[in-house]
Amino acid sequence: MIRSDAEALIKKTMARFVDDEVIPRAREIDESGEFPYDLFKKLADMGVLGIRYPKEVGGSGGDTVLYCVAMQELARGLMSLAATTAMQCLMATNGLYLYGTKEMHEEYLYPALQGEKIGAFQLTEPEAGSDLGNVRTRARKTSDGYVINGMKTWSTNGPKGDFHTVLCQTDPDKGLKGLMFFFIPTTTPGFSHSKKFDCLGTRSSTLSEIYFNDCHIPEEYCLGEPGRGLDVLLTILAEIRIMTAALALGLHRAAMADSIKYCKERVQFGKPIGKNQLIQAKIANMAVNLEAGQLMVDKVTRQVRDKKPCLNEASMAKYFTVESACKASDEAMRIHGAYGFSMEYSVQRYYRDNRFLLYGGGTHEVLQTTIARQYLK
Ligand SMILES: Cc1cc2nc3c(=O)[nH]c(=O)nc-3n(C[C@H](O)[C@H](O)[C@H](O)COP(=O)(O)OP(=O)(O)OC[C@H]3O[C@@H](n4cnc5c(N)ncnc54)[C@H](O)[C@@H]3O)c2cc1C
Repeated sequence: MIRSDAEALIKKTMARFVDDEVIPRAREIDESGEFPYDLFKKLADMGVLGIRYPKEVGGSGGDTVLYCVAMQELARGLMSLAATTAMQCLMATNGLYLYGTKEMHEEYLYPALQGEKIGAFQLTEPEAGSDLGNVRTRARKTSDGYVINGMKTWSTNGPKGDFHTVLCQTDPDKGLKGLMFFFIPTTTPGFSHSKKFDCLGTRSSTLSEIYFNDCHIPEEYCLGEPGRGLDVLLTILAEIRIMTAALALGLHRAAMADSIKYCKERVQFGKPIGKNQLIQAKIANMAVNLEAGQLMVDKVTRQVRDKKPCLNEASMAKYFTVESACKASDEAMRIHGAYGFSMEYSVQRYYRDNRFLLYGGGTHEVLQTTIARQYLK
């Protein structure tokens, strides 16, 4: 829901960018698997990468609502570009913004918001997916900082990032209370990465494993109070989930728009397929779920902006919108018949790209568990 002139302006500007510059290249980018850094830089020049940061650190002085309006529109065009942009705006830079020194802001944050440096955010390890208590990447205190040893997997921007915000264990005996985020530039000796993963969807995102072998970092690269890593994560978890919901809404809109167009064009049995009630039911379900999801995202983005507790509502919004977008992209494939199976049409890309939203920010089984817990205590 658009409620202010600023929201309307962002939506209009992003829609024009997506229609003119992203959609015409989406297929080529998906098929090449090459991340479109030129478009990423243009987004930076438009002020999108700094949309939720104040002007003093090189941001655009916007907020979460504007951020989610922009991400929704971008996801309508190309999910891998939207996902990497969303990561740069939030997870990859938030710890640096909140806890980094002035020098770190100058060296990394300001260039990141200009699209000149790329950030990444690392929680996941081979034995620690949903179960972050099992994080084994170790940060040992030294006289002048920390030494990091371990590895992360499913690292978006792993092979291309300039700096990483990494969840590490400082004291295995303390379990969750030993977790802490650290800032690790990729120029740190001992940092390396695997080759790029070959994935089903968001194919131009660059994902890999990353490795830390005796990476020495200074004291100030500890992002926050030692032992409060989960609290640091909790400060942005609702925003991560509502941003993911916004991405899902964008993809849902794209799947629905392509379906409506095809329903009107494709003639079988002497009439457009959209004249059949079973096809109309699919369009109706897409429309109802989109409207419901938009209401949820509209409510929660404003709660996040106003710093109101809303983790449960954000979980519900992420769960509902991503499941709805999965359903919409599946129905879009069916509406397109055999042509949905062809790379000529975008619906196959929506179907593949949407799957990644099921994992980041909490898998849906974990979200269902945490939502239910609110009602069963
Ligand atoms: C495209 C992509 C990009 C990613 N980018 C990043 C990134 O940049 N940084 C990063 O840190 N991670 C990233 N990830 C990883 C993502 O965050 C993890 O996939 C996610 O945390 C889940 O972990 P897992 O895949 O190991 O699944 P697991 O935790 O092993 O779960 C496997 C299955 O078991 C279920 N399950 C697990 N625990 C429970 C439970 N308690 N109750 C019920 N069911 C349960 C899950 O729901 C799932 O169905 C990315 C993943 C993808 C696909």
